[in-house]
Amino acid sequence: MAKTYSIAIDGPAGAGKSTIARSLAKELGYYYLDTGAIYRTVAYFMDILGVSPKDIDGVQRYIDELTIEIRYDEEGAQHMIMNGMDVTDDIRSQEIGQKASLVSAHAVVRDVLLDMQRDVAKAHNVIMDGRDIGSVVLPKADVKIFLTASAEVRANRRMEELKAKGQKASFNAVLKEIQQRDYQDTHRDVAPLKMCRDSIKLDTSDMTLEQVVESIRKIVLEKIGS
Ligand code: C5P
Repeated sequence: MAKTYSIAIDGPAGAGKSTIARSLAKELGYYYLDTGAIYRTVAYFMDILGVSPKDIDGVQRYIDELTIEIRYDEEGAQHMIMNGMDVTDDIRSQEIGQKASLVSAHAVVRDVLLDMQRDVAKAHNVIMDGRDIGSVVLPKADVKIFLTASAEVRANRRMEELKAKGQKASFNAVLKEIQQRDYQDTHRDVAPLKMCRDSIKLDTSDMTLEQVVESIRKIVLEKIGS
């Protein structure tokens, strides 16, 4: 099988990983895998069943009844298919993000999803974003980036996104949600969010989207070539 290249982008919620990864993947002709969407799909499934994301027994009992499929449309956009149903839009709420953070702390969930993620990287050149891509999913990734920004900057960006969608929220509530998710994601026992020794850290607090994409493009060209 021909060598495939993989780029891992990890970092906290709201650091801009998905926007940047999507844009770069398009430019390089790589697949883009948003792994957070997979955890969100699990959270959404448990939510529909009325299982609390903290209820390890409930999650364990029902996880085998869930089939997740990842599909790409003609534009290259990732779709999440939950037991045959396209739930791509349903999983994007703050509430499901928060529940995904809780459900993803269970080892049983992470184990089930591991091969699904690795299979994409085996078959395609890929940019994958998440929390444990460089550390667990693809420890041999060709490029590892740790993308971060201050919680306040991330909350501001989130406020802008909500505004663009015509939704209202208080800055303090958004900031608190981000801080809580940071805490949960960095303090769990299994695959916590942390920077790997061989990751390149980019703090995007004072950078524009274009500057971040340009920086990562340079790093990728240095490591992989065109
Ligand atoms: O990236 P996103 O905010 O959509 O992810 C939702 C949640 O899924 C995160 O807060 C995190 O707890 C979990 N997640 C994870 N590992 C990944 C990707 C996401 O634990 N690789």
